[in-house]
Amino acid sequence: MTELVDQLAVSGNLAGEAFGELLRYRNGETMEYLFEQARATRQQVKKDVLQIWGRIPISNYCKNNCKMCGMRRDNQFVKRYRMDTQGIIECCEYFAGNGVQTFLLESGEDVYFTEAYMSEVLTELKRHFPKGQIILSLGEKNQDFYRKMKRIGAYGALLHHGTANPMHFKKIFPANMSPLLKKQGLWQLKELGYHAGSGFLVGMPYQTIEHVLEDMWLLKDFEASIVDVGAYIPTPRTPLENQRSGNGEMTL
Ligand code: SF4
Repeated sequence: MTELVDQLAVSGNLAGEAFGELLRYRNGETMEYLFEQARATRQQVKKDVLQIWGRIPISNYCKNNCKMCGMRRDNQFVKRYRMDTQGIIECCEYFAGNGVQTFLLESGEDVYFTEAYMSEVLTELKRHFPKGQIILSLGEKNQDFYRKMKRIGAYGALLHHGTANPMHFKKIFPANMSPLLKKQGLWQLKELGYHAGSGFLVGMPYQTIEHVLEDMWLLKDFEASIVDVGAYIPTPRTPLENQRSGNGEMTL
């Protein structure tokens, strides 16, 4: 197993079967060695730099109905809210006062956040925080929307692809969503000059090791500037509430 880790550290990748073997048969010792190599690579590439983001969940309204998500449209039990511009500015002030100048604005797929509305929000934010870096995580908006936000001064954009495998996608996401559109959206963000990122959840229901590999390769092919990967945790009042959680160590 340590040979596979060495190969991964040197080449930055492993062939499908070998990578699957490493994930499937890993043990404590292998993982410790893998983390050691990962830390060494990170030291070479990025040194000891840490960027802290101020995460501002600006709305939990969503028009979609993904099976694993508490913000899904049909969840009648969640109390919905939407922040106004002043509320967002106050959150940014709090972060800026604590030395944090990167603001992540995130929401469900909220149709209220039109190009005109978000243009005003971003213009105000840039006026108050000219050095602030704004990262958007607002879901699938059209290219004109993201072009406009970039012009106003958005720095990055995060669009979770969910799962790269089309069959797995169908089991989790509603019929009005498509893995191809997600991938297309990601490439468009990149073309527009965003620091673009994506992510997925490890341990989602019906997910196999091969699906996780497809997800990682998508991030690698895309050369994501931001990678947001977490462990799946079942959310009450969703169709998948009785499924098992993802494994934290596998996520690492
Ligand atoms: S689009 Fe995002 S926020 Fe909306 S239900 Fe799906 S995962 Fe949740």
